[in-house]
Amino acid sequence: RAKDLGGGTFQAYEPQLHVDADERRVMEIALRRALANGELHLNYQPVVTGETGAIEGFEALLRWTNPQLGNVSPAKFIPLAEQARLIGPIGEWVLRTACQEATRWPSTVRVAVNVSFEQLHNRNFAKLVAAVLQETGLPASRLELEVTESVFMNEAPHAVAVLRELLALGIKLSLDDFGTGYSSLGYLSRTKFSTIKIDRSFVQGAASNTPENVAIIRAVVALADSLGMSTTAEGVETDDELAMIRQLGCRKVQGYLFGRPMSAADARALFSGNARSAAA
Ligand code: C2E
Ligand code: MG
Ligand code: MG
Ligand code: MG
Repeated sequence: RAKDLGGGTFQAYEPQLHVDADERRVMEIALRRALANGELHLNYQPVVTGETGAIEGFEALLRWTNPQLGNVSPAKFIPLAEQARLIGPIGEWVLRTACQEATRWPSTVRVAVNVSFEQLHNRNFAKLVAAVLQETGLPASRLELEVTESVFMNEAPHAVAVLRELLALGIKLSLDDFGTGYSSLGYLSRTKFSTIKIDRSFVQGAASNTPENVAIIRAVVALADSLGMSTTAEGVETDDELAMIRQLGCRKVQGYLFGRPMSAADARALFSGNARSAAA
């Protein structure tokens, strides 16, 4: 089983973006009960310094295992949760669970939590985050929230205001899947991101060393540098990809090369000896 291998992102989690109407209805009904039925859990994937392999943090990744449907890919059920207005309660559970877990890690290690655009519609979202930090005792500086460029689509002044409130709490913001969404860069000057996460579609292309991907990564790193932001390369699977992104000045790395998404227990075990073998 994938879980026994410390992962959860093998074949069963490959994105299958097409979901037909019947499948959707079945899935939505099941998803409504998933939280109460204890079918959700989090995996944690290390984000490391490319140079040393030292763990800077973990990204919390949501998993859903349903008795009838099996493991459902987040690429399928997250959009459904957003449309069915379930992302609020589910996202709150993710936030609380991830912050709670992070309090068990060394105090230098951050946790990153993905936040959907829909969650930023909630006027009280920053208050919720503040309450969760208070409750769990996690310092704000150890929480990073990941949003995608889509947050800035359709003139979303409200979402931008919520991001400001979040920054005022002292949390970090990172920009996920950079380069795959909205193309206007104006928002970068108005919201203070700590990190730009370069989408794996660019990084994995770097294995074949295409001049186009190299140029794109180089440009994103330069842009981030000049804005005082750092960069994380997503989806680094091979030594060649690692060498490439390091040479291009990208400091942080996330990908199967350093660790697959793993259970909370396996993530914790990385800090009690045997770190290298457990992460590989
Ligand atoms: P993401 O935030 O960009 O997360 C990174 C995805 O890349 C994860 O997929 C991770 O398993 C995968 N990945 C990491 N390293 C590698 C690699 O070396 N190779 C390959 N091929 N893939 C790699 P996952 O877990 O299937 O999640 C998919 C997306 O679902 C996430 O993309 C995120 O957008 C969303 N998601 C996951 N958990 C949550 C959550 O709690 N809340 C929200 N709103 N969205 C979530
Ligand atoms: Mg993410
Ligand atoms: Mg990403
Ligand atoms: Mg992604």
